[in-house]
Amino acid sequence: MAGGSAIRGSRVGAGPMGERERGESAPRQWISFFCSNGHETVPAFAVDALVPDTWDCPRCGFPAGRESATPPAAPRNEPYKTHLAYVKERRSDADGDALLEEALARLRARRGER
Ligand SMILES: [Zn+2]
Repeated sequence: MAGGSAIRGSRVGAGPMGERERGESAPRQWISFFCSNGHETVPAFAVDALVPDTWDCPRCGFPAGRESATPPAAPRNEPYKTHLAYVKERRSDADGDALLEEALARLRARRGER
């Protein structure tokens, strides 16, 4: 008879309101994504939803992958763009110097005339 009461007890324990609500709502799965900065994101997906291979890290915006050992590489565009912008800046500076020299030369020429 002791065994019978144990089964009864487990039934009572397994049937609170929370358990039922969970069963009625759409079942979810939590998938971990890891970015190259070591951030872990755990968005929830419906069990029947297609889980993407990558997820944008909400902390740094880098792509995050499902393998913690091999997170996707950080996008290379950013430093490359910065370098390009730097080169462009230097070029326009050189152009500006040339224009400035030209203007100075004109000023000197005018002074020389007077
Ligand atoms: Zn991150």
